[in-house]
Amino acid sequence: MTAPKSIHNETHALAEALGLPAFDKEWVWLAGAGPGDPGLITVLGLHAIQSADVILYDALIDIALLKLARPGAELVFAGKRAGVTSCKQSDISRTLVSLAKKGKRVLRLKGGDPFVFGRGGEEALALVRGGVPFRIVPGVTAGIGGLAYAGIPVTHRDTNHAVTFVTGHGADGKLPDLDWAALAKGSPTLVLFMARKNAGAIADRLIAAGREANEPAAIVSDATSDKQTVVVTTLGELGAAALDDKAPAIVAIGENVKLREGLDWLGAMTGRALEPWPLGRETLSDAG
Ligand code: SAH
Repeated sequence: MTAPKSIHNETHALAEALGLPAFDKEWVWLAGAGPGDPGLITVLGLHAIQSADVILYDALIDIALLKLARPGAELVFAGKRAGVTSCKQSDISRTLVSLAKKGKRVLRLKGGDPFVFGRGGEEALALVRGGVPFRIVPGVTAGIGGLAYAGIPVTHRDTNHAVTFVTGHGADGKLPDLDWAALAKGSPTLVLFMARKNAGAIADRLIAAGREANEPAAIVSDATSDKQTVVVTTLGELGAAALDDKAPAIVAIGENVKLREGLDWLGAMTGRALEPWPLGRETLSDAG
């Protein structure tokens, strides 16, 4: 499952032309692979894949990316999916330290961005404690790139000057202990990760704090992959809609969800007519 040799030569040439850092032995690189579409990996992330001796990868990585690993590189699945703990966090951290100490170039490849609800900080701190040098390679987070593939800008001047990223999955899978009323009042757009199970409870709290039950919400599942689906609903209906499926999903709540009617560029490729005035009013952006 390796790629043609020419790909390796080309990426080495690219790394040289861009002056990318060398991936040295005994180092760990913690990299984000992006949300799904393998094209969304960064050039630095690709360089890391092609240089690594060992790659510990997560469940949400497109395995097409692993075909680009160096011939002979060791590929280790180290993923988790909701509820199923296939690999303990402490084991992963320990493995990273011990592989680096054996003189390997170790790549920890995670979905989206490693520092966005990705435990990248925990793994990096384990490296600090183990005396292992490391580099962080940011990635496109599902919370931004996933929404972009649904035609939803995470910010837009006419709808929201702020956005809040929230996990819907606190310790033990319970609703995180957040000031939901403050979020309802202070953040015009909320982007929820890992929120299928608790989406209804979150919606109830937001509505109780004054958000409209008919406010638009979207559930973007398997975002940026060829299985992507988008369900547009309302805050009032969100809980039931979120439980309908099991695929990893990003939930967006806020008026910016309406922009999808004008900006669903993927849908336009298969014939959807885009609405030039999705907010139904003269807007700031029209004024220039
Ligand atoms: N570090 C990742 C998030 C990891 S937490 C990032 O920056 O994107 C895992 C959660 O991320 C999933 O439960 C889901 O809420 C979201 N997620 C990750 N990939 C996704 C995808 N392709 N489509 C929809 N949601 C995704």
